[in-house]
Amino acid sequence: MSLLSIVVPCYNEEPALPIFYEEICRTMDEMKGTFPGLDFELLFIDDGSKDKTLEVIKGLRANDDRVHFVSFSRNFGKESGIYAGLENSHGDHVVIMDADLQDPPSLLPDMYRAVTEEGYDSAATRRVTRKGEPPIRSFFARRFYRIMNRMTDLQIMDGARDYRIMTRTMVDAVLDMKEFNRFTKGIYSWVGFKTKWFDYENRERVAGETKWNFWKLFLYSIEGFVGFTTAPLTISTLIGLMFMVLSFVMIVFIIIRTLIYGDPTSGWPSMICIILFLGGIQLFCIGVVGQYLAKTYLETKGRPIYIAREKE
Ligand code: UDP
Ligand code: MG
Repeated sequence: MSLLSIVVPCYNEEPALPIFYEEICRTMDEMKGTFPGLDFELLFIDDGSKDKTLEVIKGLRANDDRVHFVSFSRNFGKESGIYAGLENSHGDHVVIMDADLQDPPSLLPDMYRAVTEEGYDSAATRRVTRKGEPPIRSFFARRFYRIMNRMTDLQIMDGARDYRIMTRTMVDAVLDMKEFNRFTKGIYSWVGFKTKWFDYENRERVAGETKWNFWKLFLYSIEGFVGFTTAPLTISTLIGLMFMVLSFVMIVFIIIRTLIYGDPTSGWPSMICIILFLGGIQLFCIGVVGQYLAKTYLETKGRPIYIAREKE
């Protein structure tokens, strides 16, 4: 007997959930045929939804004892939802899947085969197209992955989704990373393990709307940098050093010029520009240090990653 836990983070997914449930049931029935002795557990994480998501989940649970749920006391974000899902799952394998069917359940049998028969610890998915996404968002997303992969030791796949199946060993490794500021894509890469990648075409969500906007994604990307590299701190130091050397050369130059040509007062506009420029760089670098300090501050508080209000 083998148990597969399907973790589904849900935030205001009332319209999508019934469609999702129908689809996932079809996949589970199909998999029962191909993998004898396989059992399922459906774990919905209600991330403080403001609509009737929890009622819908409870309705599903009334008719299907494979359904379980954890309901948060407020909205903690998808990262916390994933953590709660992994923590409360019992399966030998765990898969994380969105409720909006953007993560096609039809890939699941192949993904399951990769971790059971082909010797992988994890099977993950990435979209090969960014169709239906604003071009400006795609542009910045691409830049983000480029810079991230260059500045850190991690290899984060461009277009990687959170849709992923893992063995219990890998799940435990991810759960051991108890940081409060969670950037799961970085965590997966950091814990290592052998991962098989599946590509698929991007598709629109079946119902409801996306919870992301440009600003949220931008803040999330900072989370990624601060969480997995201290390179910005080194870069700030190097910039500071560079300007120190430059100013030393300029001082020597100005002293010699004054000794030779006297001291005519000139160059005020350029002086103001330089002061503003350096002031800007200083503030920027203090901001970078502040980002790390802020994250450290939040980590040292040791707050829980999520708070459950109800669990079944
Ligand atoms: N989600 C969540 N908490 C949040 C935001 C989103 O649990 O605060 C869930 C959401 O219900 C969905 C998944 O995370 O199942 C992905 O969200 P969404 O479809 O909005 O993101 P996108 O697919 O556009 O990246
Ligand atoms: Mg989606």
